[in-house]
Amino acid sequence: LKTAVILAGGKGTRMGMLASEVPKPMLKVNGQPLLAYQVEWLKRYGFEEIWMITNHLGDVIEAYFGPGDDFGLSIKYYREVEPLGTVGGIKALEQLLQEDFLVLYGDTLLDIDFPRMLQFHMQKSAAATLLVHPNDHPYDSDLVQIDANDRITAFLPKPHEPEAYYRNMVNAALYILSPLIFPFLQQGVKADFGKDIFPKLCKELPVFGYNTPEYIKDMGTPGRLEAVTEDLLSGKVAGRNLRHLQRAIFIDRDGVMNLDKGLICHYDDFELYEFVPEAIRLINRTDFIAVVVTNQPGIAKGMYDFHDLEMIHMKMDTLLGRAGAKLDALYFCPHHPEKGFEGERPQYKVSCDCRKPASGMLLKAAERFHIDLSRSYLIGDHERDIIAGKRVGCTTIGVETGHALSMGGESPDYRAKDLLSAVKLIIDLETIHG
Ligand SMILES: [Zn+2]
Repeated sequence: LKTAVILAGGKGTRMGMLASEVPKPMLKVNGQPLLAYQVEWLKRYGFEEIWMITNHLGDVIEAYFGPGDDFGLSIKYYREVEPLGTVGGIKALEQLLQEDFLVLYGDTLLDIDFPRMLQFHMQKSAAATLLVHPNDHPYDSDLVQIDANDRITAFLPKPHEPEAYYRNMVNAALYILSPLIFPFLQQGVKADFGKDIFPKLCKELPVFGYNTPEYIKDMGTPGRLEAVTEDLLSGKVAGRNLRHLQRAIFIDRDGVMNLDKGLICHYDDFELYEFVPEAIRLINRTDFIAVVVTNQPGIAKGMYDFHDLEMIHMKMDTLLGRAGAKLDALYFCPHHPEKGFEGERPQYKVSCDCRKPASGMLLKAAERFHIDLSRSYLIGDHERDIIAGKRVGCTTIGVETGHALSMGGESPDYRAKDLLSAVKLIIDLETIHG
């Protein structure tokens, strides 16, 4: 990709102005405008041309960046006379955007390993790839629904029904778009990608969600500026970029997150332990990625289907989200090895490399999120979990809930009462060993 479009104006949408005449993208974080961080980021990943879409306050922006010479790339401007949401300016540039291009919002601070996202976009042959992530307030966010292949199947704008269950996955305002999308944009009509375009587009074209725990935050409220500055100075913004090795805490589901009632077939039977939201919130405050890895042989056994399982995970995400806790990723194994039972799904009755004690799910997560497994942890209640973790070099912690390692055999590196105690133990260990 060579071209990026930055939405740096758009009055009346999310780019509202502060009391002063400073456009939000020119707000200073640690002495430098937000937009300048974006320009530097684009330069770092080889972009050659930036289009900035501005409005009546565009003078300030143009005066600062000029033609881009000081930044080592070409910057051009398109000034909207009449603000047409997030879509209008891009539609106006249609003739100049004949290859895939990147869209970002001028009021965000971000640091994403872009080549990784681009590789995803190419592998999926996507017409559009949207950056998505879980957040700590999904109940009042616009959500996307994603299938197991990362394709976005629906947009769920807020407000949500108070009783509804949903996966915690939010569209984070960074898009790779192909020119295939242009026929869906109307010239001269005010529209917004999130509200008006993507909900329809995802039914017509392959639109994918690229889930990442990397840093991207917008200046939704003035208070955010302080938080974002703090994150920048503490190294959190750069540290989360997936070009750096990350660390994870892998968590088994049944018997660790939720009461073990045998195979859970229906979301009504899914019940989180009361200490779990606090445990996950604690992880969210560290630099560890929280990843659930769960064997779900009930799929192979024909006891429940993928939709039932998705509903269970929607409930899990929703209950956590209400408590301000989020999981960064979830992997499940639908397989089971022994064939020959009534009602089974033969295609899933196979020996796979993902069913724990195999380590396939951990390896998959490690590749996706660039995880250093030897500096990561696994928390489980079953010998299978401990073996899976040890095989790839994780430090393992056995808990006394669920199976409570009742089978004997493989010993964990540490033991803890439950998930919360295990997370506290990890935090203690990290403090001791730095
Ligand atoms: Zn499997």
